[in-house]
Amino acid sequence: MTRLLIIGPPGSGKGTQAEHVARHFGIPAVSTGDIFRSNVSDETPLGKEAAKYLDDGLFVPDHLTNALVKDRLLDADVEAGFLLDGFPRTAPQVTELDNMLRSQGKRVDAVIELRAPDAELEQRMLQRAKEQSRKDDTVDVFRRRLDLYHRETHEVVSVYAGRGLVVSVDGSGDPGEITEAAIAAVEHFLNGQGGHP
Ligand code: AMP
Repeated sequence: MTRLLIIGPPGSGKGTQAEHVARHFGIPAVSTGDIFRSNVSDETPLGKEAAKYLDDGLFVPDHLTNALVKDRLLDADVEAGFLLDGFPRTAPQVTELDNMLRSQGKRVDAVIELRAPDAELEQRMLQRAKEQSRKDDTVDVFRRRLDLYHRETHEVVSVYAGRGLVVSVDGSGDPGEITEAAIAAVEHFLNGQGGHP
């Protein structure tokens, strides 16, 4: 039973790392960004509401995001653990997640913080823009997302750091090596906690 979060700025390779780390621990990676993007491409009511925020690099309003996560965390496949990618992104969302997990008698075991210098993040985003053609991969939108990360999401890291749950990983360099470092750091951390159910 491993419940992990991954937090990182735009362009940090958070989604890729989430997939690989989750596979290692045998848990599903749950990405709020991916769920929003698939709703946008399927043109669901949620997708239609969320699209403008994604395109502009803004946070989707909490009432939509929280409801989505709450539903997703009730699915059977996350019963035995999960790696949540992209949530919580603000301090109020931390409280929401606390409440969702508490109502199920669960808690977060560790929080992976991916760190990388802003200049490198911008380079990577431009590379991804060529490969994936995401609408939010333009310089203006990227800078807005990075600014939001510094203004809002750093606080999320601080909250979890205060609980002694943050495992910081250097997100610069080779993605495979970053995955290995992240897995090793999380395992070391979890072993040091003595493990809990
Ligand atoms: P990501 O794939 O994690 O970079 O997320 C892509 C976009 O989805 C973000 O820029 C937001 O527009 C939206 N999004 C994802 N997670 C959240 C969240 N926890 N709160 C608000 N918006 C979110």
